[in-house]
This record gives sequence, structure tokens and C-alpha cells, in this order.
Amino acid sequence: MRKIEHIGIAVRDLSSANDLFTRLFGQSPYKEEAVASEQVTTSFFRLGESKIELLEGAEDSAIAKFIEKRGEGIHHIAFDVEDIYAEMKRLEGEGFVLINKEPKRGADNKLVCFLHPKSANGVLVELCQEIKN
Ligand code: ZN
Repeated sequence: MRKIEHIGIAVRDLSSANDLFTRLFGQSPYKEEAVASEQVTTSFFRLGESKIELLEGAEDSAIAKFIEKRGEGIHHIAFDVEDIYAEMKRLEGEGFVLINKEPKRGADNKLVCFLHPKSANGVLVELCQEIKN
């Protein structure tokens, strides 16, 4: 893993959260994107090397269930990897539980894979690899 790619924050209402984080960071999100496979709408802020992803989920989405159980807040930490297939294989060998066995297309032009928080001290870990066009 090379660096933290972004931190994902679960929010109830993306547009009011966008306003709040725009005031917090002193800048607007650089993109908003719906990810149909995850039933979420996301927005991304860039702060130097770091990014923050806000996620609002549709009813019955994993994000909506997370908020129901734990309230709004930090949802996952995403790490940038060079070769997601190699990293998934390595982590599985280390005993981590992969939520998806094949990388899938995530927001912001990435291939992603999630590790189960039960296998990582309660932290939902996202691996992401930039898709090179
Ligand atoms: Zn993410």
C-alpha cells in the first residue's frame, strides 16, 4: 500500500453535507458521482495529497444501514495500491477477509476491493487502484 487515497464519510444528506464541508475546507467538492452498483451518491474534496469522500446511500444501501446502526461519521479508509490483484492475494494470504472477491469499479475512476472490518480491528478498509485509460 502506498498512501491513504481518501477517507470515506457516511452522511444522511449529501447536499447539506457538501455545504458543511465546503465551509470546513474553504473549497467546494471537485466532483459528484453516483455509483449505481453501491446505491450511493458521492462527492470528493481534494486537500493537497488527501481526499475526502462523502457518501449518501439510497434506502437499503450499505451506507444507509451503517448510518442507522452507528450514525453519520467516518465509514472507511481507502488505500492506494499499485496492483489490486496482487494486494488482494497478499492480504487474503495474511488472513484478511475480502468482501468482494473480484475488484469492482468504484467512484472516481478506481478499481476497488473492501476488506471486512471484522478482520481489521473494526476498520472498513478499501483498496483502490487508479484505472488507467
Ligand atoms: Zn471510498
